[in-house]
Amino acid sequence: MPKTEHWQWYVEQFSPTEEHRHAIDEVFYAGRTDFQNVGIIRTPAFGKVLILDGDTQSSQADERIYHEALVHPALAGAPDRSEILILGGGEGATLREVLRCPDVGRATMVDIDGQVVELCKKYLPEWSAGSFKDARARVVIGDALEFLETDRGAYGAVISDLTEPLADSPSNPLFCEDVFRKIKARLAPGGVYVLQASTAGFHNMALHAKMARTLRDHYEHVASFYTHVPAFDNDWAFIGCSDDRDLRVLDDQTVDEYVERLRGENYFYDSQTHRRLFALPLYLRRELAKGGDRF
Ligand code: SAM
Repeated sequence: MPKTEHWQWYVEQFSPTEEHRHAIDEVFYAGRTDFQNVGIIRTPAFGKVLILDGDTQSSQADERIYHEALVHPALAGAPDRSEILILGGGEGATLREVLRCPDVGRATMVDIDGQVVELCKKYLPEWSAGSFKDARARVVIGDALEFLETDRGAYGAVISDLTEPLADSPSNPLFCEDVFRKIKARLAPGGVYVLQASTAGFHNMALHAKMARTLRDHYEHVASFYTHVPAFDNDWAFIGCSDDRDLRVLDDQTVDEYVERLRGENYFYDSQTHRRLFALPLYLRRELAKGGDRF
């Protein structure tokens, strides 16, 4: 392994005073689409990595942790899995996980950035693993906001795999009361809305808490959950929302029966992992219980 000074580095800056450096083995792509800056690199520790606007989106080594956590608790809890809507999800790995469920008749994925989707197909085909060609996949290249304004479908689960709503991100307009209402209007009765919901690290959980606080005004059950994602160097949080289903109390049998029916083997998610995902530490529960600003 070359000495430190011989590497080129990808530096992900979390805040003005915190960063994580990944050595770069190879750069597959570095450029800008109509919507965002894109980097696709290979690192010694995590294999291939997709970076958008300077933020790690997923890595070859641990993307299954992130994508199984995002998709399967929601689908395990959704009473109707025939129609699923994915907002964002450029790599195709969320689509892949959804299509592993044999109950899914159609999965619609709406991503604004066709160039990112094509780059992922070209350089990161392991992520989608053929799912873009699955007859049950409907891929819409367009703004999720526009889709939500015109679509009249009813979905058993809506899965938001959007980039973080930072000021300059194309996902930013999707984080507001009005859009949360539009998303809810697309849910079939008893449906589940799940979103990737920023970090739950003790030092930077404010954005996550703000999302949860806002969503509590819209749903009966708003359940935060999280897992460590090593490539993010962070505890990554998600929120599952429903008026009928509290994902926190899905029993082991329900989860295991759901997992057993999935095509192929899980890497991360089963009933024991489910309990661990939803068992939040005291500092996070306290933060979530606090009042504060909303979207
Ligand atoms: N794992 C991720 C993370 O850590 O932020 C998210 C993965 S996925 C690559 C995010 C996708 O959201 C991107 O492909 C991006 O193009 C898409 N996106 C952002 N804004 C969008 C919008 N307004 N409508 C649809 N897709 C959007």
